[in-house]
Amino acid sequence: MRFDLLTIFPEFFAGPFDFGIIKRARQQGIVEIVIHDLRSFTFDKHHVVDDRPFGGGDGMVLKPEPIFRAVESILAVGLAVEQTRAEEKRAGVILLSPQGRMFNQAEARRFADEYSRMILICGRYEGVDERVAEHLITDEISIGDYVLTGGEIPAMVVVDAVTRLLPNALGSETSAVYDSFYAPSSGPSSGLLDYPHYTRPAEFRGWRAPDVLISGHHGEVAKWRRRAALLKTLKVRPDLLEKATLTDDERRWLDEAVRESC
Ligand code: SAH
Repeated sequence: MRFDLLTIFPEFFAGPFDFGIIKRARQQGIVEIVIHDLRSFTFDKHHVVDDRPFGGGDGMVLKPEPIFRAVESILAVGLAVEQTRAEEKRAGVILLSPQGRMFNQAEARRFADEYSRMILICGRYEGVDERVAEHLITDEISIGDYVLTGGEIPAMVVVDAVTRLLPNALGSETSAVYDSFYAPSSGPSSGLLDYPHYTRPAEFRGWRAPDVLISGHHGEVAKWRRRAALLKTLKVRPDLLEKATLTDDERRWLDEAVRESC
């Protein structure tokens, strides 16, 4: 997967991709991350990327020309390589925007599966000229119902979430299938939140880790983890239970748990 990030603050990305799983994925060639300065796609002396909004009002808007120029030139780079690829994967052009479709694990999975490269456009100020959303991009993506000062942090979120789903990005010691939000219809978590994790010491400030986990009895551990995941999901994200794949026994057990807690 190749990520191209388009921003007016390229220095913003010094650091976040240099640690842990993302760093390793870059070193192993699983991902390539390239940062582009939007200003270098301007031709005027002052490298102007923004202008006042038509119709008046506060703030500035990112102009369409540098963004179109940047995306078109980035897409042209590496096209030959892309075309010779056996698999027919597409290029995603993503606009980060609070008005976009909500980003979640299913969306991250779709990007990892469908795209072989992604261009992420980071907005600033009041946002981006709407013609970018109308005529240039494949996806408009929001990372949540709140407004940030720029698209750089949302772009980092997308790169991070997508990278860890790529084949071999997570070491053999970890696997995404156990994670929270893994596809409800497949995988051991069946759409529940992950189960709670504990490590040494067995007792910390008087709080003991569950004895069953320390017992080393695999069958009992698996049963406890499943029930703990069910309870935690019920408590924190009951909305996820509707879509989760549960057995009839588990549904009955949950109903009982609800009745007991009332
Ligand atoms: N006036 C806009 C907000 C602009 S915020 C509105 O109300 O919709 C400036 C930039 O930050 C946006 O162009 C976008 O790239 C980024 N941004 C802010 N919040 C975001 C969010 N929740 N998800 C993704 N991008 C966001």
